[in-house]
Amino acid sequence: MTKRRIGIMGGTFDPIHIGHLILGEAAHRQFQLETVYFMPSGNPPHKRNRAGRASDEQRVEMVRRAIASNPHFKLSEREMHPDGYSFTYRTLEALNAEYPDCSWYFIIGADSLFDFDTWREPARIAAACSLVVATRNQTDPVRFDAEIAAKRAAYNSEFLKLDTPNLDISSRHLREMIQKGESVKYYLQDSVIDYIQQEHIYYEKAE
Ligand code: ATP
Ligand code: MG
Repeated sequence: MTKRRIGIMGGTFDPIHIGHLILGEAAHRQFQLETVYFMPSGNPPHKRNRAGRASDEQRVEMVRRAIASNPHFKLSEREMHPDGYSFTYRTLEALNAEYPDCSWYFIIGADSLFDFDTWREPARIAAACSLVVATRNQTDPVRFDAEIAAKRAAYNSEFLKLDTPNLDISSRHLREMIQKGESVKYYLQDSVIDYIQQEHIYYEKAE
C-alpha cells in the first residue's frame, strides 16, 4: 500500500512569517505532500502571556490567517493544550497510531537539525517520521550535508534536504522590528500584520 504523504510544519509561530510558509510550500512540491499541517506548539503555562509575545490564541489566529489562501495548507491545533505542553514524539506517535495509512514529513530549519539531539526522545521522533530540513543562518553547505548524513547514520532514519534558498528571517527579529515601529510588510502576510495591529501584539518590550 502506498501511504498518503502528509507534512507537518511545527513551530511557535510568534509570529508566523514567510519563511515558514515558503518551507511548507517547497516541501509540498518537492515531496508531493498531499497536505501540510501547520501545528503551533503549545506554550507551557509559565511561558504564556509574556510581555512582547502573542498569546496561544493569537498565535493560532495568525496561522489561520496566514495559510487561508493555500488549499493544501491546514491548521492543526492538536498541540494546543489548555493544561500543558506536548512533545513532538508523542504527537507523531499518536498520529501514526490514528492514521496508519499516512506517512509523516516533519519540516524543520537547519538550526533545529543542529539541536535535534537535545529534543525530547529524538530517536522516537526520527522513527515516527521523515525529517525534511531547510537551510538557515547561512549554514555552510558542506557542513549542512555532513550533518544530514550524520543524523541519518545516528538514527538510521530518513533526513531529507529541502531545496530552498537561505531565508534570512526569524520571528524574533520581526518581533523586534514591530516593537521599534519598523515596517514588516512582505515579511508577514498582510492579514497577519492587520491582526497584529488590531490586537496590539509585540509593541511592548519583551521580558
Ligand atoms: P524565533 O526567532 O522565535 O525562534 P523562528 O523564526 O525560528 O522564531 P519558529 O517558530 O521557532 O520560528 O520555527 C519553526 C520551525 O521553522 C523551526 O524548525 C525553524 O528552524 C524553522 N524556520 C523558521 N524560520 C526559518 C527560516 N527563515 N529558514 C529556515 N527555517 C526556518
Ligand atoms: Mg526558532
